Amino acid sequence: MTLFAGPVFEMAKRQFHIIADHLEIPVDERERLLMPKRAIAVSCPIHMDDGRTAVFQGFRVQHHLTLGPAKGGTRFSANVDLGEIAALAIWMSWKCALAELPYGGGKGGVAVDPLSLSLRELENLSRRYMEEMIPFVGPRTDIMAPDMGTNEQVMAWFMDTYSMNKGVTIPEIVTGKPVGSGGTLGRREATGHGVAFLAFRALDRLGIEPSRATAIIQGFGNVGSHAALGLAARGVRVTGISDHTIALYDARGLDVKAAAAYAARHGVLKGFADAAAVSPRDLLTLPCDVLAPCAVERVIDGEIAAKLQCRVIAEGANGPTTPEADEALAQRKEIFVVPDILCNAGGVIVSYFEWVQDLQQYFWSRDEVMDKLERALDRSWSKVVERAEKDGVSTRTAAMAIGVERVREAKRARGLFP
Ligand code: NAD
Repeated sequence: MTLFAGPVFEMAKRQFHIIADHLEIPVDERERLLMPKRAIAVSCPIHMDDGRTAVFQGFRVQHHLTLGPAKGGTRFSANVDLGEIAALAIWMSWKCALAELPYGGGKGGVAVDPLSLSLRELENLSRRYMEEMIPFVGPRTDIMAPDMGTNEQVMAWFMDTYSMNKGVTIPEIVTGKPVGSGGTLGRREATGHGVAFLAFRALDRLGIEPSRATAIIQGFGNVGSHAALGLAARGVRVTGISDHTIALYDARGLDVKAAAAYAARHGVLKGFADAAAVSPRDLLTLPCDVLAPCAVERVIDGEIAAKLQCRVIAEGANGPTTPEADEALAQRKEIFVVPDILCNAGGVIVSYFEWVQDLQQYFWSRDEVMDKLERALDRSWSKVVERAEKDGVSTRTAAMAIGVERVREAKRARGLFP
């Protein structure tokens, strides 16, 4: 019996076994690499505005701690379950290892639709979740960050709750905090900036000028909006954007700055340019140079993959492409995939910079952060592209192989205790 179930966990497992087969990892070593070290499930009771007490389920999974503390975001989403969080923690492990960060993979979540809560209820829940997690996390054990449904404000509440419990301010317990509370310059836009930066690397490789390129972006939250702004800043015509309320397409190009301002004000895209509305599923298969899924898992399935009309898939989201879609994409050599653990690593790389700055209490300029981020992404990009060419494998297989190998080597070197 396994605690971990569901389609997202099955996907992470299947992806791992594809890599383990490629690396010829013996069967008896696989379980130790794949299965999470710790999984924590908590009940979070909070006072609601109407006087009721509501209880929300929360999770945290620490996949491995071999290379350092677990590191990963916290997701507030109605459908979160332990299997999904475990899958996301596993992906964080390969991502951190690929980027050569001194971290294992972690992830957390609460099964709640954050948009259904008032600000006070959201604060109550954020604080209670962190309170429940205090025995299991720490700046040297497990460091949280934002993910879907959470943001800088939630991180500030997490940090304050942890610090109040310890009696001293401990900013390094979370990353993605407001700059005024120990956050770093550049973290807010880091993931989306990285997605755009690597999409440009891919366009360059295909000989496509950014000023002649078009892009479609699914998801318009932290990652999607900054990816769109980053692409538009270098002349890419963003023809499609979407969130959970609406999908918009205009072949002449959408004003992403205005869309970002609208989404910041209203929380959603609905109402921004409703005349341009198209079916959300169709948006993915409309013609474009860069398709950037920046929302949820498993949106590019085998059927969609066969219909794609893009040249580059820049995976801002975690796990947007199913293994069936990967099989279909293997036949479509004209499409270049920048896999999630490479493409969206900008977030955790700058989170690492934030943690380092907090530990040293010595803060860097935005230029310093962005310069170090781009160098780190370039190193990973080169490793992945070279490995894919050398082994004759997909960029996903190459990226994951590098990540899995690093964790495997560290486990081998440290041995098995006791
Ligand atoms: P967010 O909560 O800021 O935004 C999520 C966006 O996706 C919202 O616009 C929402 O409306 C939209 N969305 C949700 N379901 C959708 C659907 N079915 N179709 C279209 N749009 C949908 O979250 P985020 O931080 O931008 O995270 C997005 C993705 O990027 C997630 O997969 C997350 O794990 C991944 N990621 C985030 C970071 C980070 O730094 N925030 C880092 C790495 C990876």
